[in-house]
Amino acid sequence: MDLYEYQGKQYFARFGIPTSPGGTADTVDEAVEQAEDAGYPVVVKAQVKVGGRGKAGGIKLAANPGEVRQAAEAILGMDIKGHTVHRLWVEHASDIEKEYYASFTLDRPAKLHLGMLSAAGGVEIEEVAATKPEAIARLHINPLDGLDEETARRWVDEAGLDEAARDGAAQVLVRLYHCFVEGDCDLAEINPLILTTEGSVHALDAKVTLDENATFRHPEWEEFAGTDTEDPREKMAKEKGLNYIGLDGTVGIIANGAGLAMSTLDVVNQVGGSAANFLDIGGGANAAVMTAALEVINSDPAVRSILVNIFGGITRVDDVANGVIQALASVEIRSPIVLRLDGTNAEAGRALLAPHLSDRVLAEPTMLSAARRAVELAR
Ligand code: GDP
Ligand code: MN
Repeated sequence: MDLYEYQGKQYFARFGIPTSPGGTADTVDEAVEQAEDAGYPVVVKAQVKVGGRGKAGGIKLAANPGEVRQAAEAILGMDIKGHTVHRLWVEHASDIEKEYYASFTLDRPAKLHLGMLSAAGGVEIEEVAATKPEAIARLHINPLDGLDEETARRWVDEAGLDEAARDGAAQVLVRLYHCFVEGDCDLAEINPLILTTEGSVHALDAKVTLDENATFRHPEWEEFAGTDTEDPREKMAKEKGLNYIGLDGTVGIIANGAGLAMSTLDVVNQVGGSAANFLDIGGGANAAVMTAALEVINSDPAVRSILVNIFGGITRVDDVANGVIQALASVEIRSPIVLRLDGTNAEAGRALLAPHLSDRVLAEPTMLSAARRAVELAR
């Protein structure tokens, strides 16, 4: 789950990472109130879960109430890369001496935590990585060892941050690492991490992705739930307890097991189509789950055909077939469905389905032929 900048900064605050005083505003008047509290000059920032807000005009400095009003009016309702701005973050503006970059993620192949630190901050890190990879100092951290300030200071030196930022940056890095580990983040990123003209180091931006597998030990994440995903399909799927990820294609996918669902996406691509989603209905493909899955896919206007790919293992295909039949009876499906059912009790399952087949509900014997059929129908 991605957090908005303001939520990320609130999260940072719990771990002692310094940020500028500020508050959220959903209206122009609220923005002015927040500016009075934060103290002029302020910076008015669009809250959208996408980077490059600065370049898009979503971040403006304001020295007085008139300018705050102007900035808030301009930014509220603005579209930034397909995200509409409904909320602002207004904070006391910083005097920037230098902009750095700092982040922690998991390096899966290395099975270690990976810290990235650069003296070239404020620009997109992908750009730095592409044009000046040597400007990023990488530090692998064994989670059993953690990160101490001494190591962090050496890392800061290696990255070529200014002498004046050394202690402050090392302290922020240790705290950011705690935030990453104890805060169960997939990503904790500060870009820019700044050195102010007064010589303090603090986070000017916050990009935090929480690891939802850790939700059970973070009851406090509840507050982020309502503001979570902006994709209405994903929201609906989540409410129905489905393992769903929205994509840009036209073939709706339903499969049992994450591995099979991923393979199905690959095969659809291979035969020249594109998937509208990833959807793993898991082990028990009963009628309720199948109905929920079809409802979610049906609600996606981009879907032109639906590919149901089930391989029965412990799940029996005849149970799945009954689930499909009941779901078809209760959901008005907009797109043609192609079913590929195989595995345990496949024969019995196909026999159950046979009377329900039509030019809108088709069966195919293999994953490849089913994918071809679904892609054709989506054209
Ligand atoms: P992003 O473009 O979405 O990553 O938004 P950021 O929060 O990183 O802000 C982009 C840029 O705006 C920063 O790199 C700064 O150059 C500038 N900026 C943001 N806050 C301030 C501030 O308080 N003072 C000054 N002078 N510039 C700021
Ligand atoms: Mn940024």
